[in-house]
This record gives sequence, C-alpha cells and structure tokens, in this order.
Amino acid sequence: MTERRRGGAFPLPLARLAGAARRPDTLQPQRPLREASRDARPRPAPSGVGLDSVQVRQRMVQRLHAQGIRHEALLRALASVPRHQFIDSALAAQAYEDTSLPIGHGQTISKPSVVARMLSLLLAGSAARARGGLGKVLEVGTGCGYQCALLAQLADSVISIERVRDLFDKARAQLAPLRLDRVRLVHGDGWRGHAPNAPYHSIIAAAVGDEPSPAWLEQLAVGGRLIAPVRSGAQQVLAVVDRELHGYRRLDLEPVHFVPLKSGVD
Ligand code: SAH
Repeated sequence: MTERRRGGAFPLPLARLAGAARRPDTLQPQRPLREASRDARPRPAPSGVGLDSVQVRQRMVQRLHAQGIRHEALLRALASVPRHQFIDSALAAQAYEDTSLPIGHGQTISKPSVVARMLSLLLAGSAARARGGLGKVLEVGTGCGYQCALLAQLADSVISIERVRDLFDKARAQLAPLRLDRVRLVHGDGWRGHAPNAPYHSIIAAAVGDEPSPAWLEQLAVGGRLIAPVRSGAQQVLAVVDRELHGYRRLDLEPVHFVPLKSGVD
C-alpha cells in the first residue's frame, strides 16, 4: 500500500514519480499526520517572490509526499502554485505550514494536507484514472482560489462557484495573472451545482453540509467521483461518492473540519 510507505527526498527522480503515479492513492483512511509545526528546523519566511518561496514550498511538498501523497501531477501542482499569494500578506509567513488560515468573511483556506488528501482521492476515482486527470470539474467554494489553481493543473476544465461576491472578485483577480484559461469562476449558490456544464467527472466541495447536495449527485457523470465534507453526529467526515452505472456508492472517511455550506449569495 503506497500510502503507508515513508517517502524519500523530494524532488524525486522522474522515474520514481512516474512509477508512483501508476499506483494512485486508495480509499484507505489516512494515517495520522505529523504536524508541520513539530518540524523544529528553522525555516525562512517566504519573501513573496523568488527562491525563498520556491524552497519553502518544496519543503511543504516534501512533507506531503512523506505523508503519503504520491500522485506525480498533484505533487507538481502543489510545488508550483504560490499559496502565499492567495492569502493576506500579514499571514504569508505561515502559508506553507500545515494550517488553515483566514481569508476574510469568516472563511478559511483549508490546510495543505487536507487539500492534497481531497485531490488525491479525487484523482483515484475511476473516471479520473481512465482519463489520466480530473476531466471536467465542479468546485463548490472557490474561497481565495488556491485549490482552484491546483485543480486547473489537474483537470480539462474547472467550474468553480463562490457565494460571497467579495471573495469571488478577489479570487478572479488572484487567478487572472496565472492565465488559467480552463477555469470559469461563477458567483452563485453552489448548492445547486452548475447544470449548464454538467455532467462532471469530478466534484469537490470546500464547505460542509448535512449531506452531499442532490444537485451534485445528479450532475456527477457515471464513473465520476464527488468528495465533500459532511456532518456526522457531532463531527464532520470526508465523504467519497462514486456514481456507478446503476446508482451511487458512498464511503465516509476520516474526520475533518470545514466551514459550513450556506445558501443564497452575499
Ligand atoms: N477551496 C477554498 C476554500 C474556501 S472555504 C480555497 O482554496 O480557499 C469555503 C468557501 O465556500 C467559502 O469561501 C464560502 O464562502 C464558500 N461557500 C459556502 N457555501 C457556499 C455555497 N452554497 N456556494 C458556493 N460557495 C459556498
């Protein structure tokens, strides 16, 4: 089981990464993660540009690799997207710690290990494996746009919906210089999904509800996979739903902590 093996240094030789990519992460519950904050080595604060942030980001990717994230294209995307540019500059020094951070309006950007876990689960779906990528993606909860920038590197196209106008505007400004022509940002209520572009091979929600939205299930392609946090008693868990030829199969995985899905728009 690839996830349980400790990884070596990153960057890895291309051949090793290519081999690892043929063994996508499976639906095993994740083993406990080593807290990044326990890594006592001094680490430079990202400067915002140049070598500093590249090196600090490589260290983040190295930790994620050691924690079991093995998908080559995902590791490359994580190494290339400048997470510090998506958050308030006052918090930039924490951008590559494994921590969630505020992005305004009471919302948070998820911690890198959770983003990486969700994306690797999505990449292990049967449509994604058959296509060698996430295909057509629906993201609910654009937030600051960080996860959207990662999705853009792993998908044919991304529709990302955000209900808070100010976050939508900021994400658009943030993503513009990255020239993500495969991404379309929508200001709206993602609970309804986005029917005009359905069906989707992959659907990912960044906010928690009681159940996956019926609209998402309906807009999921056969062979497609949906990942969403859902409430389960007093806690939240990560739900993985696969659409099969004659129905849906759902598996609830590890506990998580997400901001709530809200209805309507702000
Ligand atoms: N993936 C994001 C995480 C954002 S946090 C990132 O990388 O930053 C969750 C986001 O979901 C918040 O921005 C919140 O406003 C949004 N959200 C909550 N309910 C929503 C809904 N019904 N439709 C669209 N977005 C929603």
